[in-house]
Amino acid sequence: MSRFWEDKPLEALDRAEWEALCDGCGLCCLHKLEDADSGDFFPTNVACKLLDLHSGQCSNYRHRRALVPDCLRLTPKLAHSIQWLPESCAYRLRADGKPLPDWHPLITGDPESVHRAGISVRGWTVSETAVDDLEMHILDGDARR
Ligand code: SF4
Repeated sequence: MSRFWEDKPLEALDRAEWEALCDGCGLCCLHKLEDADSGDFFPTNVACKLLDLHSGQCSNYRHRRALVPDCLRLTPKLAHSIQWLPESCAYRLRADGKPLPDWHPLITGDPESVHRAGISVRGWTVSETAVDDLEMHILDGDARR
């Protein structure tokens, strides 16, 4: 396979390439709280109800925006501007002109590599269906743990 993610800017990727660029970490599907005064974001370990906490995949990707109206459809333009995308996010990395990490499934050829690297939501997140108070789930320090 050509290394399209290095050869092309985000804006030039076709639909299949764009989808393949996602590392499957699921981190963007975790709730974030925003400080209304400062605009700062506070990540939590609480996931959207549609997120499969083991695979890191949306359980209803096709209809997600009907089921979760505020689900964001990431675009090249947004990848350049959204502050809360995790630093490991492949779209953010490529928007910043950075290479994909060694554990990215496009590099390894194995979708499990993102989990083995400890980057994904597997093993430390909970579903919003099991949580009453998001503020109790704000993460300390690093955005993922
Ligand atoms: S954070 Fe980025 S790479 Fe990870 S699942 Fe979301 S869009 Fe894909």
